Amino acid sequence: MNKNNSGRRKFIQSSVLGLGSISVSPLLTAKDVTEKNFPGKQAQNKLNIVCVGAHPGDPEFGCGGTMAKYSQAGNNVTFLYLTRGEAYNDKQSYEQSAALRTKEAEKACEIIHAKPVFAGQIDGNTELNKQRNEEATKLILSLQPDIVFTHWPLDSHPDHQVSGLLALTAWVRSQKKFHLYFYEVNTGSETMGFSPTDYVDITAVRNIKKAAMFAHETQSPREVYEQFFKTMEEFRGLEAGVKAAEAFIYFKPEDQRANIAGL
Ligand SMILES: [Zn+2]
Repeated sequence: MNKNNSGRRKFIQSSVLGLGSISVSPLLTAKDVTEKNFPGKQAQNKLNIVCVGAHPGDPEFGCGGTMAKYSQAGNNVTFLYLTRGEAYNDKQSYEQSAALRTKEAEKACEIIHAKPVFAGQIDGNTELNKQRNEEATKLILSLQPDIVFTHWPLDSHPDHQVSGLLALTAWVRSQKKFHLYFYEVNTGSETMGFSPTDYVDITAVRNIKKAAMFAHETQSPREVYEQFFKTMEEFRGLEAGVKAAEAFIYFKPEDQRANIAGL
């Protein structure tokens, strides 16, 4: 975390709570705190934002810009990593890889001002079953989330599929009491069939997101960024009419689905 950024953080905290007027997104923010949007929450309360990712780096690459904006605005942001990236390198033991990638995740979280939490599953071998669903629901709900972000389950990586579905089940079991958004990673080669409903302008926080992505040194982040994520940010930016954006699918509960304007 650099000094400039903490100055900026202070400025933003005192000026606006929520994602701010520069956001092009209808994403829910602290300024939307109403009984209808967040039952039981008081106006001006901080929001608890939980971002679920299969591996260290997924929350950062998928929605690090949006998470930086949430935390700059004074909300509590938690990155819930399903695994510690144990399987990334077959020249090292799982313990060694996990230790290395945990450190990288912690550094990235420091940059974004997020709290890292690890769910204890194993990279490349994540499980989706009754027990894992119960565990994940318990863990997610213990963080008292107002909004959860997770992988879009149609993804070529099985660990991403599992992460998306575990969060979806937690949402269903919680009586849908938090808001659920899906994010994309590497659309085209990993995320598939992703038609965004919401966008966030991340132009002003691009450097923070980049620093958080680049903290994942073991993942060749510069190459991955140049080859995929820079283009994605700019493509989503074109769709949203800004320089750079992140895109989401908002999963509406039943009572919000029939709301076409004018009818
Ligand atoms: Zn991943």
